[in-house]
Amino acid sequence: MTTLPDRRLLLVHAHPDDESIGTGSTMAHYAATGAHVTLVTCTLGEEGEIHVPALAQLAAAEADQLGGWRIAELNAACAALGVTDHRFLGGAGRYRDSGMMGLATNDHPRAFWQADLDEAAGHLVEIMREVRPQVMVTYDDNGFYGHPDHIQAHRVAMRAHELAAVEGFAPAKVYWTAMPLSVLEAGMTHFAESSDNPFAGIGEVSELPFGTPDAQIAARIDATDQHAAKEAAMRAHATQIPDTSWLYSIAGNFGSEFMGVEYYTLAVGEKGPGSGPYGWEDDLFAGLDVADGPDRSPVGAAGLR
Ligand SMILES: [Zn+2]
Repeated sequence: MTTLPDRRLLLVHAHPDDESIGTGSTMAHYAATGAHVTLVTCTLGEEGEIHVPALAQLAAAEADQLGGWRIAELNAACAALGVTDHRFLGGAGRYRDSGMMGLATNDHPRAFWQADLDEAAGHLVEIMREVRPQVMVTYDDNGFYGHPDHIQAHRVAMRAHELAAVEGFAPAKVYWTAMPLSVLEAGMTHFAESSDNPFAGIGEVSELPFGTPDAQIAARIDATDQHAAKEAAMRAHATQIPDTSWLYSIAGNFGSEFMGVEYYTLAVGEKGPGSGPYGWEDDLFAGLDVADGPDRSPVGAAGLR
């Protein structure tokens, strides 16, 4: 009988690199503390930009080999995060990066944006059936910032949750990635005078395509001790994130908090105990009846396959 750690976390992301940029510290934190972390990536990211000049001809319009290259980048990122259970939805190459909203790439026959919702969700249900995660992380209904594959990842994850609930093994809690408005406002103030200001041209945080009122945030995961793992994972996605990116200069200026603290809203399940003015949880498993640590006891009678 297969056994897995008691705490099992499933993350559903759109492209290779989203896991590291959005949730890398959370993943590294749970992997390092003995939870089982399963990453499901929905596409290969074939339509991404290429910031490594020597690889420019891999682009979709040329050799169209970027997706394959990004599998290797994702493998390296997962190694940096300590995550060993990684899958592509429906198998590598089943769904193609749809590109930005409104582009012709949205209409590619394998574009994730065109995916049949129940078929795509069915692939995820099979992973849920096998792993039995108590907690799932994905995006909100705007895909955090509006990319079609992120919106579709949200739809597929939530549909899979519905289907798994019918069979009784849906994750007890579902979180969506989020950025508190107070953090964005602090960032705008901090970088206002910077020559490398990522908020340049933005007058108000309300102009950004993301940002959640602090009162709606459910969890703040402080994984500052994992900020180096997150940065290493991001650097593994070298075609996507240039070495000179403001992400790294911010990380340098803001210290470990920028990389190491990640926030979530709770979409499904009951919020566990928390602290601070809004009762933010400090653990995605808060309130659930699961043990801490890498206790590898077999799961119940329904069992793991
Ligand atoms: Zn993405």
